[in-house]
Amino acid sequence: MALAELEPLNVDEEYRLLIGGDWVTPEAGTYEIVDPNTTQVIGHAPEASISQVNDAAAAAKAALPGWRDTPMAERCALLGRAADLIDERIGGLTGLLQGETGATINITEAVQLPACGDRFRQYETPVNLDESMAPYPVEANPLGPGGLAGAHVIRQPVGVVACITSYNFPLVNVSGKVAPALAMGNTVVIKPAPQDPLAMIKVVEIIEEAGFPPGVVNIVTGSGAAAGAALVGSPDVNMVSFTGSSAVGVKIMEAGAPTMKRLLMELGGKGACVLTDDCNVDSAVGAIASVWGLHSGQICTAPTRVIVHRSRYDELVDKLTAVAGILKVGDALDRETIVGPVITELHRNRVEHFIASGVADGATMLCGGERPDLPGYFVAPTLLADCEPDMRVVTEEIFGPVVAVMAHDGDDHAVELANNSNYGLFSYVFADSPGRAFEIGQRIQSGNVGINSLAPHVNAPFGGFKMSGIGRDRGIFGLHAYSELQALSWVSS
Ligand code: NAD
Repeated sequence: MALAELEPLNVDEEYRLLIGGDWVTPEAGTYEIVDPNTTQVIGHAPEASISQVNDAAAAAKAALPGWRDTPMAERCALLGRAADLIDERIGGLTGLLQGETGATINITEAVQLPACGDRFRQYETPVNLDESMAPYPVEANPLGPGGLAGAHVIRQPVGVVACITSYNFPLVNVSGKVAPALAMGNTVVIKPAPQDPLAMIKVVEIIEEAGFPPGVVNIVTGSGAAAGAALVGSPDVNMVSFTGSSAVGVKIMEAGAPTMKRLLMELGGKGACVLTDDCNVDSAVGAIASVWGLHSGQICTAPTRVIVHRSRYDELVDKLTAVAGILKVGDALDRETIVGPVITELHRNRVEHFIASGVADGATMLCGGERPDLPGYFVAPTLLADCEPDMRVVTEEIFGPVVAVMAHDGDDHAVELANNSNYGLFSYVFADSPGRAFEIGQRIQSGNVGINSLAPHVNAPFGGFKMSGIGRDRGIFGLHAYSELQALSWVSS
């Protein structure tokens, strides 16, 4: 067993909150951070008081005019500097990030860590987002003399952005919000997920060294919903950029209404994975197995709802069962481990409950289901066959290493099953001909559709249809998301 050797963690290390350029002690004490792999306490996170959350929002508001007026080239240069510093130092956070997320060492090193600096790097180059409208002649009217009407459309920052995020990829989720928000001239208050905020606090220490003015970047943490809820209710916050469950997304929309919050909502998913009668089943098997191996299915874009042509059904489930049987479930620090733990005991219980409900509803459990004999919060890779469209394991997001399989009788039926969902984040089509896959993909109600592949395009707009969210980010779409359009118009005679 080749266990990764990581720096020992200092359980007593003091973590603080960054508010208006000062690192401050949390007024409500600390709470324990538990390693899902060992169930040991690995650190103590700051518990911000509500008044500290409000102070952070006020600090971001105070910093806004100066940052907004800083030329975009300077803002982007600081993001590039932050990316350099993150890339230099992020390796030093491997043990901490692995410990608080429970992600396997391989996923920590290959996915969790490098994407953090990448998200900042994406916004190191300024872009001109201004547009001029084509002029057109207007007659004199009661509003003014006639002439040639023109307009210049510019993008203004939204203001103070609260970045509230989920636990699964803590650094990626936050940096994917902070970088485009800052590039656009907004200031931010970061509120990471309660389960794993420590490495993000360390990343903010690194970002701060890049030289952002005080108050431009703030971070507050807390063990429950209160800190996030306070930001959503704060009149100093103009926009909430949220990544998390659809249920909490609904609460945020409701609570944000009185102050007309701008919202970017990146919510839950239940990815459909359509396999046509002529598809390459082996490549689809590799993709579907990622539900088990990529952070134990704790990823919103996972292809968890498999819709396979009846003629290829047996081949698919046989191959999936064989793959599940060889995936090593075990110590997340073992480099041979493919399936690590899920985040908490509560979440493991939830996943187990879903599996039991599937079996009770008539699904056939071809593998998994049992609780591995390991100290952490593990769930074995689980394959549920013979599923029906209305089973909870098909309709609800499980967010664990569980795959549900249904049969279809042709492309129209496959599309109907794929669209029979409240979610629409990332779906997939596997077909022999890319043209056929495109044709099917366009009919699926999903913000993103992968064609014979799981890999997203880094600059393509990312976001969900239906209960999977509102808005898009990534690449240029990230800059659009964190801006308001303003038109300056005139009539020249
Ligand atoms: P969650 O909704 O439980 O929590 C997300 C964040 O919301 C946390 O920081 C939490 O403290 C905060 N929060 C909770 N109640 C709040 C309230 N009333 N007001 C303000 N903030 C509040 O989600 P989770 O369990 O951390 O993450 C899993 C979910 O995230 C899944 O549904 C997954 O699909 C989704 N997710 C979506 C994307 C995407 O890009 N669409 C990416 C990653 C995860």
